[in-house]
Amino acid sequence: MLDFLNRHLMHPLAARRARSRHLDYLRVLERTQYDPPEVVRARQLVALKVQLRHAYDTVPYYRAAWRAAGAHPDDVRSLADLEAFPVLTKADIRRHERDLIAAGYDPAKLRLKRTSGSTGVPLNIRIDEPAARWKLACTVRSDEWSGWRLGQRVAKVWGNPEYRQFGLRGRLRNHLLDRAVYLDTLDLTPGRIAAFVAAIRRHRPGLVFGHAHSLYLLACAMKKAGVDDVRPNGIISTAMILHDWQRVVIEQVFGCPVTNRYGCEEVSLIASECEAHHGLHLNADSVYAEVPADGKLLVTDLSNRAMPLIRYRIGDVVVSAGGRLCRCGRGLPLIERVEGREADYVVTPAGRLISGISLTENFALHIPGTAQVQVVQETVHHLRIRMVADAGFDAAARRKVAELVRETFGPGVRWDLELVDAIPQEASGKYRFCISHVARDHLRALSA
Ligand SMILES: [Zn+2]
Repeated sequence: MLDFLNRHLMHPLAARRARSRHLDYLRVLERTQYDPPEVVRARQLVALKVQLRHAYDTVPYYRAAWRAAGAHPDDVRSLADLEAFPVLTKADIRRHERDLIAAGYDPAKLRLKRTSGSTGVPLNIRIDEPAARWKLACTVRSDEWSGWRLGQRVAKVWGNPEYRQFGLRGRLRNHLLDRAVYLDTLDLTPGRIAAFVAAIRRHRPGLVFGHAHSLYLLACAMKKAGVDDVRPNGIISTAMILHDWQRVVIEQVFGCPVTNRYGCEEVSLIASECEAHHGLHLNADSVYAEVPADGKLLVTDLSNRAMPLIRYRIGDVVVSAGGRLCRCGRGLPLIERVEGREADYVVTPAGRLISGISLTENFALHIPGTAQVQVVQETVHHLRIRMVADAGFDAAARRKVAELVRETFGPGVRWDLELVDAIPQEASGKYRFCISHVARDHLRALSA
């Protein structure tokens, strides 16, 4: 009953108050997802041409870069013609942040997304409001493929719960509208996990959401405690590699299939599994994706006009589905899988567990002058922090490292800072955010 009211009353009211059309967008997207592949492609070509024209006319960076490369929006007649345009790297974005903002947009009035992206490189991306609403609608559409319905309560296993950043208003909104229950992955103890399990048994969330390694850890703890009565409608694993051995345990404990989702802060949702769980459907309504021969995914944002990302090399390696169609009947193209991000949990001397992906994100975003970061836990009392630094890295930044280590791990943890030129990806294309040589035993103790 409460779910029904929340979906049909609270969400529409909140959308109207915020003058957001995302629920209207959602209705359109629910219909068009079943259009045939050629219709989807034709729509993408139109959207792509509009975005290229806009970028050429209003974004100084692209006008200069494309002129130098001899590429022009008028020459684009098919999706493949995009290949004539230069690739946009993370380094380009860091260097030309201002020149990537379209004329007529005031950066102060845009949504700022700060992210350490898929390879630990911090970026500032600005998104206009209509694009943010459109992306939200796209995300809700694919999240509902998991079995969850908008309006049902969500349980999030996540670092830095969003609502805390917005004070009382955020808490109130969370209480009435989002109704999310959180397990903070920056501070996991057996006690906190037990309290969270008690909360989700009480609140019966429609969706359990989190990073693969955190969902797995939660499932192991529940299995060990003999909890088998939490039955969500959907489970969404996002932002990192979901291994089959993790999927098996999570699905067994919750009695519900896991939906693997792939996205990033820069462009939001990129791809998601549907009910068929056989490959991931690209979010063709908001991004155009290219999988070159080396597998290094290029995304073009079709909706954000304020800071268009065109042929952006995101840093993840993707395996193409070779044009295979999904048996669900949706015309949205498929990719087979993402060889994306991988991170270990680390453990503090006090026995707290910390999600590696949340940890490195925290470091990358809070230490000034960080161009890329990786944390290696050698022993419980010794960390090696590998960092690519830029001009903004100074003595104050070094003090910030000390402060973060002390806050996160407690006193008495020694750390070495290694300034390096690059943090290479592994041969498979995986990027390891965080490596721990000691957490394995603690994790085993939780799950055995
Ligand atoms: Zn499908």
